[in-house]
Amino acid sequence: MFVFRAGAGGARVVGPGVRAWPPWGRWRGVGVGVGTVCGVSRVSVVGLVVVVLATVVGVGVFGRGVARIVATVRVGRPAEAGRLAPVGTRLATLAREVVGHTRFRTRPLVRAAHWVVMVSFPLLLVTLVTGYGQVVDPRFVLPWLGHLWPLEWAVEAFAWLALVGIVGLFVVRLRRPATRRASRFFGSNQAQAYFVEATVAAVVVAVIVLRGLEYALAKQDGSGVASPLHFPLTTWLGEAWAGAATHDLETAVVLTATVKVVVSMAWFVVIGLQPTMGVAWHRFLAVVNVYARREAAGGPALGQLLPIRVDGRPLDVEALEDLPDDARLGAGAVEDLTWKQLLDVATCTECGRCQDQCPAWATGKPLSPKLVTLALRDHAAATAPYLRAARAAAGGDGTPALDDPHAGLDLVGTGVIDPDALWACTTCGACVQQCPVDIEHVDTIVDMRRYQVLMESAFPTELGGTFTKLERQGNPWGLPARARMDWAKGLDVPQVGVDVESAADVDYLFWIGCAGAYDDRAKRTSRAVVELLQAAGVTFAVLGSGESCTGDPARRAGNEILFQMLASANVEALDAAGATRIVVTCAHCFNTIAREYPQLGGRYEVVHHTELLNRLVAEGRLVPAAQDERAHDEPERRVTYHDPCYLGRHNQVYAPPRELLGALPGVELTEMPRHAETSFCCGAGGARVWMEETIGTRISTTRAAEAIGTGAEVVATACPYCTIMLTDGVKAASAGGSPDAPPAVGVPEVTDIALLLLDSVRR
Ligand code: SF4
Ligand code: SF4
Repeated sequence: MFVFRAGAGGARVVGPGVRAWPPWGRWRGVGVGVGTVCGVSRVSVVGLVVVVLATVVGVGVFGRGVARIVATVRVGRPAEAGRLAPVGTRLATLAREVVGHTRFRTRPLVRAAHWVVMVSFPLLLVTLVTGYGQVVDPRFVLPWLGHLWPLEWAVEAFAWLALVGIVGLFVVRLRRPATRRASRFFGSNQAQAYFVEATVAAVVVAVIVLRGLEYALAKQDGSGVASPLHFPLTTWLGEAWAGAATHDLETAVVLTATVKVVVSMAWFVVIGLQPTMGVAWHRFLAVVNVYARREAAGGPALGQLLPIRVDGRPLDVEALEDLPDDARLGAGAVEDLTWKQLLDVATCTECGRCQDQCPAWATGKPLSPKLVTLALRDHAAATAPYLRAARAAAGGDGTPALDDPHAGLDLVGTGVIDPDALWACTTCGACVQQCPVDIEHVDTIVDMRRYQVLMESAFPTELGGTFTKLERQGNPWGLPARARMDWAKGLDVPQVGVDVESAADVDYLFWIGCAGAYDDRAKRTSRAVVELLQAAGVTFAVLGSGESCTGDPARRAGNEILFQMLASANVEALDAAGATRIVVTCAHCFNTIAREYPQLGGRYEVVHHTELLNRLVAEGRLVPAAQDERAHDEPERRVTYHDPCYLGRHNQVYAPPRELLGALPGVELTEMPRHAETSFCCGAGGARVWMEETIGTRISTTRAAEAIGTGAEVVATACPYCTIMLTDGVKAASAGGSPDAPPAVGVPEVTDIALLLLDSVRR
């Protein structure tokens, strides 16, 4: 039986096995009002000494941590101009990203949990300031703000929500043990993360307890604020404690406030001692990193790659003429990275969302975008002090002394970045798309490839042959330019300069691309598009042998000089042909011409064939076979659509191919588990199609297995390289792994959407 007793020592619940309540009763000997120093209780004096010491140490160590991060970031080269402007646009984007938590779209529960924890952080800082006052005077409230009820409501609501949120995030982490490779936390420092989460939980609990105690004290004082208006979610707690002795309540306030401040300062000390503790530092750095993102108006750092800069000037064909002898092209050492790239790696939260989506990691390769980021971060933090010292010794002109053992320490092949990881990247952009703090992995990976190719001549052997073919024949197949029009045999395909004077005389310049001209499967797509354009009455012309590779594989393999040569020749050819509107069938050509040729002055309106064909169907200029022309008992044909990375993620073209498929009678679109924004690469991008894939499972096989899993009869694609990879992948997946095995019965057909449409229009 429990008894509630009120007496001089306060209200207590006593009974078998229950200690006297409140538990701080034993502190009464030193409690508020019992012993005082200059009118302040002894507990308050002790608390004050503790919080002052904790604060001095906490702020000091935290400040040192900030200084170390700033010093490391400053080791970097200048980033391209415009990283900090225009201020208004960047602030608007920052507000949208932070408030909207846009990168968490596909994980609504984590999004909600992280959002409340994030918002509670600055809000609860107000309670920390109050805590300092409460250590001295348990009835302390902030002037003016103290009893502002909207603030009190916000504080209480976010305290409770943050508690729920942090417990949720804790559970998420527990359910994904970092020991499993499949876990997104594999390779993350879980102890640091648990420490951060435990600190948040402790502070939030302290805030809630303090609110209850404040209510109880106010009630005893007969204050009007002791009401649900001021304590909306802690009145019940305060009521439970309202019968306690006043001095016990006062002591409890002082002790809880002291604990809150000490816990907070301990957090500052720990993170200040570890400037690489991204899981904590991202609370501050993410704001700066998102503000300085590559795309000021929003959107991930995808699509275009930026040119190499030498002395602040973009490296193009003209700049090659007077390239300084000591120019370092790409990123070979920490000092070659820009300050933004160093800020990127310092900001990583180790959440592993990038790793979770990476096709290379998912198929057993050594590449994880998170682990690359963490390796660069740790290496930068370790070497930055030596680089700074070397610069100072060199006279502060920004150049490290060449005989310094730490200056110029290679990033690749010296234990920082594994070459197999560097070359495993397909540049699919899934990591960039997922990263909640806007880290630009692809740009950094390509910068490291550039250094390997241009400065070290160190790249996979197969790429040597591809570079030579691109240099000599202008295409990665190494076939002669005169064979570029072989795909069009038997068709009436006008060429600029032969059949039409200028591309300005036709609706579109049809850019065929190397695959569309030389690969048998892609040639069928080129022919289908010709037939469909002619059926719709769209006029077009091609460049014929005047085309060469857009330069996409060269650029993504790191051979920026070769890219510049190919791209500038193409821009010249397109301009000479009078091209303004271009239609392409290859997602890589689409991206390069639309997003990268403007860097060289080539500005065109580029449309992907699925967008154009979709528009022609919508306008009634192409009519797929009507439903009533089919046999009534003919079953729907299940089709699944594979998003090419360079059409979807890099350029956000998701809807037109799907609308086009939806317009085909008798077709039932069934999506793969990973589609649209979270689609899974086919394995071709980043020039990977021209390299052997000997580590782990083939990416194309994994993707094809997912397509087969939908039960689809057809895997529709919208890029010749996806068609090539998935055709092999489907064979391999259905035959138990070998890409050379003959297809088994019931294996889905891999085909471009244009061929499906042509088939339907012909009916
Ligand atoms: S771009 Fe794609 S393959 Fe490369 S690291 Fe990012 S997710 Fe992995
Ligand atoms: S790089 Fe971005 S997505 Fe990857 S672990 Fe770091 S914060 Fe998370």
